[in-house]
Amino acid sequence: MEKLYEGKSKICYSTKNENELKIFFKNDVTAFNSLKKASYESKGLLTAKISNIIFKYLEKNGVKTHTIKVLDEQNVLVKKLKMFPLEIIIRNVAAGSIVKRLGIEQGTAFDKPIFEICYKNDTYGDPLINDDHCVVLNLATVKQLEEIKKVTLKINQLLIELFKQINIKVVDFKIELGLDKDNNICLGDEISPDTCRFWDQNNRKLDKDCFREDLDDITAIYLIILEKLESLNI
Ligand code: ADP
Ligand code: UDP
Repeated sequence: MEKLYEGKSKICYSTKNENELKIFFKNDVTAFNSLKKASYESKGLLTAKISNIIFKYLEKNGVKTHTIKVLDEQNVLVKKLKMFPLEIIIRNVAAGSIVKRLGIEQGTAFDKPIFEICYKNDTYGDPLINDDHCVVLNLATVKQLEEIKKVTLKINQLLIELFKQINIKVVDFKIELGLDKDNNICLGDEISPDTCRFWDQNNRKLDKDCFREDLDDITAIYLIILEKLESLNI
């Protein structure tokens, strides 16, 4: 299998089928546009397992995802998507960049989810863009944007309901979407504590902020999330 792309936290390999990819979850973790980097044994296994459970749950609830088959603890066989070069973000509670950007107090709960689009481009630091940038720069059509927003809000509702069962708040998250060979919009990439903010009942951070802010050992924190999700037997 040929390595097609090595990203910050995953590696994509080609397979015998041109419409499929194997994705390997690395142990590496990065923050602040890769200015902070580390590697932790078992981190890839944890993000892979968590993401697989979440994708299975979303698929069961009518969301199209890229997953074909979980191959082993760190590898997943997926549909090769034509990815939108976008990072789609939902915020239910203020944290991270919105706190710095707009001066909102961390922990402020929003009356309705805030939908944001960033252009996925490390050179420019994944800048926030609007619908017009997407359409005029040919990143997505008006119709695709409507569908992207609809599916993202559905995923948010489903994630809130899932994590409520384990007393965890979905503060915010990032997803990546793409088109499958039949041009259906599909959820790709991953959903894990690397790409979401999760807070427990006491607002303890159970996500990559533990690494960003040197709060806790992320593998211990990610294991808490995994064990809680596993207890739901999805
Ligand atoms: P990054 O590119 O941000 O460093 P990763 O290390 O997570 O991120 O690399 C995974 C790459 O694979 C990302 O660029 C992502 O857009 C891409 N990707 C994820 N799922 C799919 C898929 N099903 N088909 C094609 N590309 C995908
Ligand atoms: N996020 C991500 N990858 C990115 C940028 C953000 O997974 O390249 C996630 C991040 O973990 C958080 C949400 O998207 O759950 C919102 O991130 P924010 O804009 O607050 O940026 P950050 O604080 O990560 O700089």
